[in-house]
Amino acid sequence: MKDISAHAWELHRRAVVIDGHSDILMALADGTTRLGSQLAVPDPSNWVSPFPPLEATEVPPGPLTPTQHTLCFGSAGQYSIPQFVAGGITVQVCAIYIDDKYLGCALQRGLEMAWWLHHEVRANPGFELVRQAVDIPRLKQEGKTGAILSLEGLEALGNDLRFLDIYAQLGLRMASLTHNRRNLFADGPQPGVRTGGLTELGRQAICRMNELGIVVDLVHTNETCFWEILELVKAPVAISHLSPYAFARWRGEPWPCPRFNPHQDRAALEAVARNGGVVGLIYFGFETIDAVVENIEHLLELIGPDHVGLGSDFWGAQFAPRGLEEISQVPRLTDRLVARGHADEIVLKLLGGNFLRLFQQAWTDPRVGGSR
Ligand SMILES: [Zn+2]
Repeated sequence: MKDISAHAWELHRRAVVIDGHSDILMALADGTTRLGSQLAVPDPSNWVSPFPPLEATEVPPGPLTPTQHTLCFGSAGQYSIPQFVAGGITVQVCAIYIDDKYLGCALQRGLEMAWWLHHEVRANPGFELVRQAVDIPRLKQEGKTGAILSLEGLEALGNDLRFLDIYAQLGLRMASLTHNRRNLFADGPQPGVRTGGLTELGRQAICRMNELGIVVDLVHTNETCFWEILELVKAPVAISHLSPYAFARWRGEPWPCPRFNPHQDRAALEAVARNGGVVGLIYFGFETIDAVVENIEHLLELIGPDHVGLGSDFWGAQFAPRGLEEISQVPRLTDRLVARGHADEIVLKLLGGNFLRLFQQAWTDPRVGGSR
């Protein structure tokens, strides 16, 4: 990328870069991709019928303009190990999410996705499963990349909390109780179920996550659960991939919402900051890389430089911003932040320093390889 200043490159090469959320494990389990292989985006001027060449993509209503990558691939190809290396990514969080069609065999599907991540670690030298916080600076030093296993919704436990321990042994280090749907642990934010909070099992899950040193991810919680969890939790939390839409949804506001509402969202975001948590900003839903940067800056204004990170939602996000269509382009974010006058140490925190600090504080259980 020629459009990146020498100073931004130098800073990016020094940075531990951590991306708080992605969904490639579904594609791995479905056999549609492998982590070691990169899909290249063809030059659109060479496209011939049938169009689009791979994944059929519906153009959404509203102001979003799909990028060439979106039109060509959808979410496919948004990252791979070669793209991690090109983009200076140290660690990617990879989430297990159970699609509706797998709810009847959620435990098996979840374990299958965990198996695939382990398989890709075995198959790709220089790519590791991160189990302890000390692994992360070591990977950086050795020029390697890694992945953190997370759950997006506890459905993958098959409704049995004991399996949280098994997933912890498999490397699980972060989990949200729900995706959008209601489950045995909590209500999600989907319309019609937003009034309920945590169930008794959900409360037990939070306690067990604290004991095991698994970061509680507040993403996709409804408002009731959000405050209940913050009350219960004994360690710093994450919002692994926050979109400006997330809180607007609580208020029933329409998509898209270009920025976090400083009046109404401030209380929730400040509570996460007081807890010592980190908010990873999603890239999905922003039309351009500059819009991503503006929202990062808005989060900085709301909660300061110690609680903001990256949470791309790559492989879950079809409509990636122009200029940030896939992960090797992340140095452009660094470049924009530097160009807009952000100090080096703040950029380093945003790129991964804050998530690293969170993991150092939260991954505490020696039985699952905690850092203290
Ligand atoms: Zn999500």
